[in-house]
Amino acid sequence: MPSRASFPPICIALGFPTPGKLIEHARREVDAGETFLEFRLDYLPKPSEGVAAIRAFLNDRPECVILATCRRHQNHGRFNGSIEEQLAILSDAVDAGARAVDVEIESAESAQARLEGLKSKCFFIVSYHNYEGTPPLEPLVKRMTRVGADSYKIVTTAKKPSDAQRVLALSKAHPKLKFVMLAMGEAGFPTRVLSPAMGGLYTYAAPSTAEGTAAGQVSAKQLRTLYRIEKFTKAAKVFGVIADPVRHSISPSVHNRALQARRIDGVYLPFLVKPVQLRDFLLLAGRLPLAGFSVTIPHKQKIMRYLDTIDPLARRIGAVNTVWRKAGKWRGANTDAAGVTKPLDRRLRLSKASVLVVGNGGAARGAAFALADAGAKISITGRNADRVRALAKACGAETILREQLRGGARRFDALVHATSLGMFPNVNECFFDDEIPADLVFDLVYNPLETALLKRAVEQKCETVTGIEMFVEQAVRQFELFTGESAPRTVMEKAAFEALA
Ligand code: NAP
Repeated sequence: MPSRASFPPICIALGFPTPGKLIEHARREVDAGETFLEFRLDYLPKPSEGVAAIRAFLNDRPECVILATCRRHQNHGRFNGSIEEQLAILSDAVDAGARAVDVEIESAESAQARLEGLKSKCFFIVSYHNYEGTPPLEPLVKRMTRVGADSYKIVTTAKKPSDAQRVLALSKAHPKLKFVMLAMGEAGFPTRVLSPAMGGLYTYAAPSTAEGTAAGQVSAKQLRTLYRIEKFTKAAKVFGVIADPVRHSISPSVHNRALQARRIDGVYLPFLVKPVQLRDFLLLAGRLPLAGFSVTIPHKQKIMRYLDTIDPLARRIGAVNTVWRKAGKWRGANTDAAGVTKPLDRRLRLSKASVLVVGNGGAARGAAFALADAGAKISITGRNADRVRALAKACGAETILREQLRGGARRFDALVHATSLGMFPNVNECFFDDEIPADLVFDLVYNPLETALLKRAVEQKCETVTGIEMFVEQAVRQFELFTGESAPRTVMEKAAFEALA
């Protein structure tokens, strides 16, 4: 029977409708280097056929650890038989070579006396699943330990960041018990990466070529190569990005690659934080503890009220995109600003340049203040004259109405486009319908890289700068604030391009 130490950190959850498909996908995972597989027998119309599948598979691949599960449909599984039948199938699975079984708490409680035979011949996991939320966990631990098992699997649904933190804290709170502790859903994603380092027995991953069996599962390849869950230690620094939505952020790809390149014991995670959950997130941040995090839509302004110190430029811009902890205090800065000025500085003498900023949102505000600080002569335009005027007044810039730009009436050394026009999926949108009034065009939009605006700028023989330059520049500065080390810029740039591709 595998001991705690002998379980690999990742278990691939395999649920397929035929024994043939189950074996085929299991073999693919093993060929990719995996050795720990869950066979969901309840996904088969005849779960007993899964027993033969386990025997046949292990004949071929005896080195693998198989966990057998046959969850009843009453408990969110697909098995329609009785508890007796469920336990009989699992017992046969163990006889066929499965080294561990998972029995849900509802079945286990009803059949306590009949569990002894099973418990004596395999690694016995009793499991709890909650698809609605994360209830108080202590009463649950009491309930599960009454059944008694080699390991207690607690899988809840995270509705907010602190739910994930409570689940992750289980192992530390009960050092004598072995937990598999995970929270489903996007807000629970950090648990899938952090659980093994925080004392959990293992985590689950989806097969590389098919869907997983629970919300939020990602492939083992992603867990190993992007999040490096076998590499970082219990003492690892945890970083992340907070956003809503966060799923499509390329920051985890870029920062994890940078941590890897600098051999820093750390990991960078996506945290889904809804607008009303900022305070709740900071609870998680304090308890994990988090060393630093990137801030993006919709939190850049609101985060400021929770910080101990804020860099003066960020305060003037009114937005923070980088938060890190120093001497127990939360500090905030705005690296978006340098993300705009640095790429331009490489191409122009900013103190002598005229720059037209298009837009009046967060990115435009950062750009306008930073460019004004660099000595550029700023003009601002946008679709809403009142909002443009307010920003222009705040940073000492000129207001230009859209119509004043028509027919080549004005020309600038550079243009910084900071609206969401042209961003995926609205890739054909462009603020200008005729001539672009600048020699150099910097589009902050980076998805797609070649926006409609930049295509038009190339046709008009303007020099162009893509939004990825801003992204990399602000990420480089974030990395340096987070870690105190110089950032591996080329690695980060490559990771950003790969993530976008
Ligand atoms: P934001 O605060 O929501 O501001 C959006 C801006 O777009 C506002 O000025 C808005 O004008 C304008 N806008 C929206 N729809 C428009 C339309 N149909 N016509 C004209 N103007 C329109 O967003 P943000 O954070 O400033 O981001 C703006 C862009 O910059 C996004 O595409 C974002 O991806 C990009 N960005 C890139 C980076 C990077 O690293 N490269 C970093 C940050 C942002 P109203 O005020 O009139 O609504």
